[in-house]
Amino acid sequence: MSADEEAYREALDRARAHSLEWLASMPSRAVRPRATADGIAATLPAELRDGPAEAAEVVDELARYAEPGLMAMPSGRFFGWVIGGTLPAALAADWLVSAWDQNAAMRYATPAVAALEEQAGQWLLELLGLPAASGVGFTTGGTMANFTGLAAGRRHVLERVGWHVDSAGLTGGPRVRVIAGAERHASVDIALRYLGLGLPTAVAADEQGRIRPEALAAELEAGAAGGSPGPAIVVLQAGNLHSGAFDPMEECIRVAHAHGAWVHVDGAFGLWAAASPRYREALAGIELADSWATDAHKTLNVPYDCGVAVVANAETLRASFTAETSYLVLEGHGVSDPFERVPEFSRRARGVPVWAALRSLGRSGVVELVERLTDTARALAERLGRLPGVEILNEVVFTQLCLSFGSDKRTRAVTQALIDDGEVWMSGSRWRDRAVLRISVSNWSTDAGDIAASIAAVERAMAAVPD
Ligand SMILES: *Cc1c(COP(=O)(O)O)cnc(C)c1O
Repeated sequence: MSADEEAYREALDRARAHSLEWLASMPSRAVRPRATADGIAATLPAELRDGPAEAAEVVDELARYAEPGLMAMPSGRFFGWVIGGTLPAALAADWLVSAWDQNAAMRYATPAVAALEEQAGQWLLELLGLPAASGVGFTTGGTMANFTGLAAGRRHVLERVGWHVDSAGLTGGPRVRVIAGAERHASVDIALRYLGLGLPTAVAADEQGRIRPEALAAELEAGAAGGSPGPAIVVLQAGNLHSGAFDPMEECIRVAHAHGAWVHVDGAFGLWAAASPRYREALAGIELADSWATDAHKTLNVPYDCGVAVVANAETLRASFTAETSYLVLEGHGVSDPFERVPEFSRRARGVPVWAALRSLGRSGVVELVERLTDTARALAERLGRLPGVEILNEVVFTQLCLSFGSDKRTRAVTQALIDDGEVWMSGSRWRDRAVLRISVSNWSTDAGDIAASIAAVERAMAAVPD
C-alpha cells in the first residue's frame, strides 16, 4: 500500500469509528450540547501549528474537541426548528460524494453525478406531482432554493415588459411588485433582498397562518388599478413554520396568474405533503405554480446541506443562471448543465444523497415517512393536549405543533426547563402574539419510545415550574 493510500485509510477508518460512535450515542445522550461555542473555543489549541500532523491524529483530535459541543440533531428526540435526521443510505452516499470530490458543475466533466442528480430530480418531480419537464437545481437549502425560484421569476416578469434584467440590472427599470403572506418564512425576505426586490407587500393571514385569498386578490387588484398590471411575483407557502398549514394553492395561483404574476411556492418542508395521497388534496393546484422551493435536509432526512429549486419552465431557469465564458466547454444538446440551474459554479454533488435516499425508501417509503411524521405530530398533540395546563394552539395538519402552558412567562419558563432537562429539544418561539413551545416532527427515527420520553420530559418541565 502506498503512503498516500495508507494515510487515507487510517484517517477514514478513524472518521468511520467516530461517526458510528456518535450515532450509537443517540439513544442515550442528552440532546442539548454540554458546552457553548465559547466554551469549545476555549478548549481548542490557540495557535496554528508550525508544521504538519498525521491525518488520523487530526481526525481523533477533531472528534474529541467537538464532542461536548455537538447538538444531537440526528436524535429521534430532537424536535427543534425544522431539522430532520439522516437516513443511512443518504449519509453513506454523502461520504462517497466527499471521496469522489466531483465539482458537479458540468455534465461532460462529471457525468456520473450529473446523471444521478438528474434522475433524483425526475424522481422528485414525480413524487411531488410537479410538471415533469421542470428544471431542478440542488441548492444549499431552502433559502437558496427560494432565491433560485424568485430569480427565475424576476427575470421572467421583467422580460415580459421588455426589460432585460440580466444585462440592464434593476436600476431604472420597472418596479417588480412582490406579494407574500404575513406569515412567510424569513428566508423569503432574505432571498428578495439578495435579488434587489426589497420587502414584499404582506397580505393578511388567517388564524392558522394561511394567506387569505380574498386579501391577495384585493392587493393584486389595487396594483392593477389605473393601468395594465406591472411585473409581479406572488409567494405562497406550503407548510407554515408554526402550524404546518398550507396556503390555499389553487385559488391563490389562479388569481395571481389572472394578474400576470409569477407564483413561487416556499415548501421547504411542507411540499413533501404532496407525496402522500392523504395530504395531496390539501395542496391541490400546487402544480400550477411557476416555481417551488423545498429542502431535502428536512423531511427527506438527507444530511446537511441540500435544498431543491424547481422551475416549471426549465429554459427560464437555465437562462437565469447560465454564463457565457470561453473556458467552459458546454454540451449544448438542449440539456442544461448543472451549474445553469443553481447560483453556484463549483459545488459538491449534493443531489447524490437525495438519489440514495429515494432509492432506499422507494415510493412507498417516502409516503410512509411523510405519513409517519405527521402521525407522530398528531399523537404528540393528542397526548400533550390531555395534560392539565397544556393548550395546543394550532390545528395539527402536518408535522408542526405549537403549545402554550398558560401565560407567556410560564411558557418560556417551561421551555427553558425542558431544554435544561436535556431529554428532548423543542424550540421556543412567538406565534400570533403568544410565547409558544414549537415541536417539529421531522426525524425519520423518532419512535414510540421517543414519544413516551418526550411526554415525560414535558411533564417534568411543567412540574419544575411553579404556576
Ligand atoms: C427551513 C425553511 C426555510 C429555509 O430553508 P433553509 O434550508 O434553512 O435555508 C424556508 N422556508 C421554510 C418554510 C422553512 O421551514
